[in-house]
Formats: sequence, C-alpha cells, structure tokens
Amino acid sequence: MNETIDLLKTKEEPKVLAGGQSLLALMKLRLAAPKNIIDITNLEGLSYIREDKDHLAIGALTIHDLVENSQVIREKFTLLSDAASKIGDQQIRNRGTIGGSACHADPAADLPTALLAADAHFVVEGSSGKREILPKDMFVDVFTTSIEHDEVLTQIKIPYFLPKSGSGYIKHSRREGDFAITSCGVVIAMDTTNNVCKDVRIALGSVASTPIRFKNAEEYLKGKTMDEKTIVEASQREAEGADPPSDMHGSREYRLEMIKVFTKRSVKLAMSRVK
Ligand SMILES: Cc1cc2nc3c(=O)[nH]c(=O)nc-3n(C[C@H](O)[C@H](O)[C@H](O)COP(=O)(O)OP(=O)(O)OC[C@H]3O[C@@H](n4cnc5c(N)ncnc54)[C@H](O)[C@@H]3O)c2cc1C
Repeated sequence: MNETIDLLKTKEEPKVLAGGQSLLALMKLRLAAPKNIIDITNLEGLSYIREDKDHLAIGALTIHDLVENSQVIREKFTLLSDAASKIGDQQIRNRGTIGGSACHADPAADLPTALLAADAHFVVEGSSGKREILPKDMFVDVFTTSIEHDEVLTQIKIPYFLPKSGSGYIKHSRREGDFAITSCGVVIAMDTTNNVCKDVRIALGSVASTPIRFKNAEEYLKGKTMDEKTIVEASQREAEGADPPSDMHGSREYRLEMIKVFTKRSVKLAMSRVK
C-alpha cells in the first residue's frame, strides 16, 4: 500500500487500476488517457468480507461476484447482493470490484446507490494518512468522488442495520445487464408488533449526477403504519435533487415517473425481507 501511495504522489497523471471494467472501457473510448497506471489488482489483503464488531467490512478489491454470493451479505445486507447481481454479466462480475465501482461513481451504476442506502462509510489511505468518508460526502458529481488524487479506497464499512430490518434494491433497465434507467435501494426497520416503520433509508440511482437519498419519502414513512396507501403517498413525494436527463433510454418525465414506481416496489421488497 505504501508503494501505491508513493507512486500516486510522485507519478505524473496516475490512475489506479482495479478490475479495469470501467477504466479500460473509458481508455478505449479515448475518454481517459492516464500517463501512468498503477495496477493494484494483486495487492494483498484488500479482498474480504468480514463481520466486525459494529459493522460489516468489505475490502475494496472484493469482486462483484463475491458480494453477490456472500452468505452474510445475502442474509443481512441483501440490497448489496441484489445490486451486485445486476451488474453487467458474469465476466464483468468476476473482474469488477466494489471499490472500483464506488470510485468510478457512475450515477447509473448499481453498487453506489445500494451503498448510499446502506449508509456505507469509505475508508481511504493516502500520503496524509487514513480517513473515513461519510456516505453523504462520497459522491460529488458524475464520475467524481471526494477521494483525493493521492488516496486509495481500501475498505467499505457498513454499520449493522437495526433489528427487524429488511433491505432491497431494484434496477429498472431495458435489458438484463444494461445500466439502470432508474434504480432504488431501501433499508427499512420495522416495529413488527404494529407494522410501523421505525426507520428507513431510500436511495435513488440514475436520476441525478450522483446517487441521491429520497429524504421526503423517508420522512413521510417514519412512524407510519405501513399500508399500501402510505407507501404510495411516500413514493409520490418530491424527490429533491432528482434531475434526470432525457436520452434514448427514456425521457425526463418517464424517469421521474419511474422514481415513484420503483420506490414503491423497493420499499415493499425491503419490507418483505424484514426478519
Ligand atoms: C460491458 C460492461 C457493462 C457494465 N454494466 C454495469 C452495470 O450494469 N452496472 C454497474 O454498476 N456497473 C457496470 N459496469 C461497470 C463495472 O461495475 C465495473 O466493475 C466498475 O464500475 C468498476 O470497477 P473496477 O474494479 O473494474 O474498476 P476500474 O475500472 O479498475 O477503475 C474504475 C475507476 O476507479 C478508480 N479506482 C478503482 N479502484 C480504486 C481504489 N481502490 N481506490 C481509488 N481509486 C480506485 C480507477 O482509478 C478508475 O478511475 C459495466 C462494465 C462493463 C465493461
């Protein structure tokens, strides 16, 4: 790691290479032309999924396939395995890494949205030492995070969800494996004695320059009895910060409408998984 940080600091226009599934694609399209590539693929100790005292720790080089199929993630952080399972195809899931996806910060990508809903913290190491980036500070703009140029993402920490929680992530795309037109990740904690929502986080993908939290829907749901009417009402709140583009996959109006549809479905999916 020290050598990597040193190279990032001293080399001209360096770029870290993890799974290469986004960086190489950008280079082929001539949208990126780093002067120096620092291959971290074989750095030891950065691929793991570990249950620590108060959080789940995922090493930055953990590939999507491991996130999708990890038993602990499937059981306790299901929205992350949902999201990982929807990425591209099996070859991409065998090479691409969770850290690479977070650092690439594509607003249409799956894991950044799920990680925002999961309240993930991002541990980075650089020449000024180690620091932790809060979920609200990580994604700054399209393809831009708050990670500095001489820093490497080493770990993603996900605080354990509250008891009686469930989670889910749904991606809406034209074909299996395409990037999302709209996506939604939800973590909900319930009082199962009276079906009341104790806490909820909802994140939306592909509707702004970064994944965003759907705060108005969250606030509406907290403390409410979770019936169909309440869920529909919540999904129809204004999603502040949503500013989707019109493109060949769907108009702005269509995408805004899909926020309602997929919020509703994702909340229901998360509720169906409450344990
Ligand atoms: C055909 C195709 C389809 C795809 N479909 C989807 C999809 O449906 N959904 C989806 O979410 N993604 C999709 N992807 C992208 C895929 O998820 C990538 O794996 C991911 O975006 C990048 O991870 P990586 O490990 O390959 O990173 P790389 O491509 O190696 O790196 C991406 C960027 O992150 C930086 N970086 C990587 N790791 C670190 C680190 N530890 N610290 C600091 N900087 C770092 C690199 O410098 C680079 O700027 C697709 C890719 C392809 C080629």
